[in-house]
Amino acid sequence: MSRVAWDSHLSDVAKNLRPSPIRELLKLTKKPGMISFAGGNPDPAIFPVAEFSEATRILSERGREVLQYGPTEGFEPLKQFLSRWMAPRMGRATAPEEMLITSGSQQGMDLLCSVLVNPGDSILVEDPTYPGALHTMRNRGARFVTVPCDAEGMRVDLLPGILDRAAAEGHRVKFVYAIVNFQNPSGATLSAPRRKALLELAKERDLILFEDDPYGHLRYDGVSDPTIFSQDDEGRVVYACSFSKILAPGSRVAWMVGDPELIRRMVMMKQGNDLCTSVVAQALVYEYCNLGHLEGFLPKILKHYSVKRDGMAEAFRKHLPAEAEYHIPAGGFFFWMRLPGVDTKELFLKAVDRGVAFVTGPSFFANGGGEDCLRLCFSFAQPEELEEGAVRLAEAIRDLKS
Ligand code: PMP
Repeated sequence: MSRVAWDSHLSDVAKNLRPSPIRELLKLTKKPGMISFAGGNPDPAIFPVAEFSEATRILSERGREVLQYGPTEGFEPLKQFLSRWMAPRMGRATAPEEMLITSGSQQGMDLLCSVLVNPGDSILVEDPTYPGALHTMRNRGARFVTVPCDAEGMRVDLLPGILDRAAAEGHRVKFVYAIVNFQNPSGATLSAPRRKALLELAKERDLILFEDDPYGHLRYDGVSDPTIFSQDDEGRVVYACSFSKILAPGSRVAWMVGDPELIRRMVMMKQGNDLCTSVVAQALVYEYCNLGHLEGFLPKILKHYSVKRDGMAEAFRKHLPAEAEYHIPAGGFFFWMRLPGVDTKELFLKAVDRGVAFVTGPSFFANGGGEDCLRLCFSFAQPEELEEGAVRLAEAIRDLKS
């Protein structure tokens, strides 16, 4: 019996899908004893399981509502909570019509692309940036214009020249994608003057800004800079945040805030996508927050992850060769490293042999590059693994050079 020949049935997008390079690499890291600095997962050891279980009481109290389909815009009590809780960051309590609850920020990003990007349009992204975003954007037919980053985030000063060149080459840039705090993967935070300059430029050139901020609450040192959203009075910034890193990625609950007209379009798109984000998940997250647990949990995770960040910094200082270039991130989950002259794909294979994993640089570059870079995540590994992981990484670097 012959099987279906899928090539003649699949869409062009589906035909061009490639397995995520990170997921392929992660398969190699499943070996027993492996220390993983690879995937950017939160630490399950601190998931607030008991408090989440307590939140299930909303099922006995409002079960008939939360087991039903809900509004596409999101579970109203959760939206009200988020509007109040986020007001200091947003600069004001945002209105219900400015907010959409999404099934993870990942969906928010896809919805945004689907309402702004036609196949062949371009998105301006940071070099390096989050590969999951590149994946979604590619699926929507986007091309990329890239802007380099340094320790203060995106080089906004280079943007006018980059945009002029891109326009001359026929790129139609539909929005700028910026991960403003403790960027994935660079760990860098966009400085306050650059945020201001970016918004000014966006106004001048009529650009839409997508401010993706899943790590903004995870600041271990210093004080937060105002969001770009809070400085915008034209509705040109759309802001995304998520419960994935501050609570539980398995909840798949995140939110976007933006101009009501844009949000309305995204709501209509989401209607055709999943009708609504799981009401059960939204209600559990809401009740967890309503019981005051989020306020108690945040200081706990800040302490937990800052200890790990410090542990990784100390282990790298002690064990890595002097040519390793990196900054200590003030928050988030990641160290970004450059090893001049090292091909990190080759290093990865040596490192896996030695029992430590990371993600290679090129995964984070939209148009190529980053061969000598790597991302090392400290959130998931256990504290006692941080030093041993650094020792193994140093051995793998030596193996490669010998
Ligand atoms: N944006 C960035 C920068 C991320 O790092 C991630 C997850 N790694 C996401 C968005 C997606 O998060 P969510 O779990 O909310 O879909």
